[in-house]
Amino acid sequence: MVTKISNNESEHSVHVLVRPEVAELPPYGAGQTLQQAKANRPDVEMINLSVNENPFGVSPRVTRALDESLKTSACYPDSQCRQLRQALAQQLSFPCDSLVVGNGSEDILAMLCKAFIKPGDKVLVARPTFSLHPIYANMMGADVTAVSMTANMQYDVDSWLTHISQMPDLKVLMLANPSNPVGCTLDHKSLTACVAACPEDTLIVLDEAYFEFAQDENAFADSLAILSAQSRPWIILRTFSKAYGLAGLRVGYGLVSDSQMVDYLDRVRTPYNVNSLAQTAALAVLDDPGYLQQTVDLVRQERMRLIPVLQDMGLFVAPSLANFLFIDCQRNASEVAGLLLGYGIMVKPWQEPGYEHYIRMTIGLEQQNNRFVQALAEILKDNKLKTGNL
Ligand SMILES: *Cc1c(COP(=O)(O)O)cnc(C)c1O
Repeated sequence: MVTKISNNESEHSVHVLVRPEVAELPPYGAGQTLQQAKANRPDVEMINLSVNENPFGVSPRVTRALDESLKTSACYPDSQCRQLRQALAQQLSFPCDSLVVGNGSEDILAMLCKAFIKPGDKVLVARPTFSLHPIYANMMGADVTAVSMTANMQYDVDSWLTHISQMPDLKVLMLANPSNPVGCTLDHKSLTACVAACPEDTLIVLDEAYFEFAQDENAFADSLAILSAQSRPWIILRTFSKAYGLAGLRVGYGLVSDSQMVDYLDRVRTPYNVNSLAQTAALAVLDDPGYLQQTVDLVRQERMRLIPVLQDMGLFVAPSLANFLFIDCQRNASEVAGLLLGYGIMVKPWQEPGYEHYIRMTIGLEQQNNRFVQALAEILKDNKLKTGNL
């Protein structure tokens, strides 16, 4: 017999049952997909510059490898991702038993928080930041403190050092380098200072989702060298979602300080967390250096071209070594993003308090970027938008 439960009653009991840490979490806010945006605006040619995807689309080598891999889809994937970890180990000259692979790097972030954070643990994150850093820490009941950027949108190293010195029981330091959404970086000296200031048993989490775009720049720290040279536990997170163009397949990896940590992460991960197509695709694109180079070259070239163009429009653009720009529109960013949709351009309006004037725009192909600049110029010229007041 089926018993009908009234909506109110079921909501009430769920509300009572849910962990308070979960009830208080904000939603992730992934925004609409390109397909949804296209369906809403069939009159314009829609491009998605809102989620930092690779504008070249998937590598043809990946498509070919996937055709073959599809045939074994009836079989479980390798729960240890052996081939992929071996390929990564070889390419990075890093021990295979200290590599962890996830269903996107966000999966590894979740594993880390589940394995290491208990209620009340102190966690330091940046502000503005990638929202999953505080979300997953809060999910575990952490006591999260956010360190703001400087007024000109750089990491505020002095402020980080002050916060760290006031937290002798700091459990986890978690930051993205380059930063998302800002794009700024910590250089060798700054990262070294922040790490050295941490208590001896702080876990250092460096999220390098945009590593490939920044790795050759002087302003970007060689985190592997810095972290390996000291004794605190650490993890560096990287992903195939951005420069490698596999966002839809969900693969990320982590380099960790010792294999014991992989052991602990293994205990909280779902055993088949990385599906077979994702493993195949990641292996194929690792073997396609031309695709990566083409992407990194385009982004660097377009980044250098776009920044002065936007500055000439009177806009502040945060320093970026990533594949996106964080732009102060001097107006409510959600309104600007809404108007850009009318031109067929999706960008991400920032929502964190104090940063609601900023949009984050993914650097795309030259002609896509030109469309963005032109549309933004028209929108800002048109004074229908309120300035100042939020
Ligand atoms: C995109 C992004 C991620 C998530 O990457 P996935 O591998 O797709 O889960 C993690 N961290 C930062 C800072 C990102 O921008």
